[in-house]
Amino acid sequence: MRGIGIFGGTFNPIHIGHLIVAQEVLSAFKLDKIVFIPTGNPPHKDKEEVAPALDRYEMIRLAISGNSGFEVSDIEIKREGYTYTYDTLINLKNVYNDKMFFITGYDAFKDSITWKNAEKVYKMVSFIVVNRGELNDKLEKEINEIRINFGVDVNALKIPNIGISSTEIRYRVSKEQNIRYMVPDSVLTYIKDNKLYRGE
Ligand code: ATP
Ligand code: MG
Repeated sequence: MRGIGIFGGTFNPIHIGHLIVAQEVLSAFKLDKIVFIPTGNPPHKDKEEVAPALDRYEMIRLAISGNSGFEVSDIEIKREGYTYTYDTLINLKNVYNDKMFFITGYDAFKDSITWKNAEKVYKMVSFIVVNRGELNDKLEKEINEIRINFGVDVNALKIPNIGISSTEIRYRVSKEQNIRYMVPDSVLTYIKDNKLYRGE
């Protein structure tokens, strides 16, 4: 199966969970490439928790350097305020002629029902959904409901469970705890040099 994997997220910061997801999808579906798309800067309210978009973009760039199957796009960080997956996909359709697969973990797929124009998004792209944490009955039911109610093309991919989140990384940095090997060394150095996630 050929096409492009679109991997959207806050990436605040990117960690090995993201990288393993992307590589597993690239290999399993034989896609041409995976495009990481970090979200833009949120409006001032939640700014403290989310590092500036340029920093999140730069950390992705560092993390994926050397992998010719990975790319990062600034399409969302160039826009002001909240960015919506729907608008991004409309733009990407003009750039790529290839089939697009939107990549998410269970959690993000479940939340996708609240996205702007979710029903249209479901018709525009196929989804590749990877496991994140345990798949309990409730979550499975929610995922199946979206799938059936909206006729979404969902391709489930089983990957090794990686219990790492950006939230955990930020917490650890704020407590001066170890994050080595949870993010690439280049990202660790970037976080240190730019004093990100140190809290007060
Ligand atoms: P935060 O804790 O700040 O929400 P996060 O680790 O969930 O950060 P996001 O940028 O929110 O990272 O996630 C982007 C995408 O990557 C989502 O689709 C999410 O489900 C997926 N993802 C992130 N971490 C993992 C992981 N460890 N295993 C599987 N999928 C993951
Ligand atoms: Mg998340």
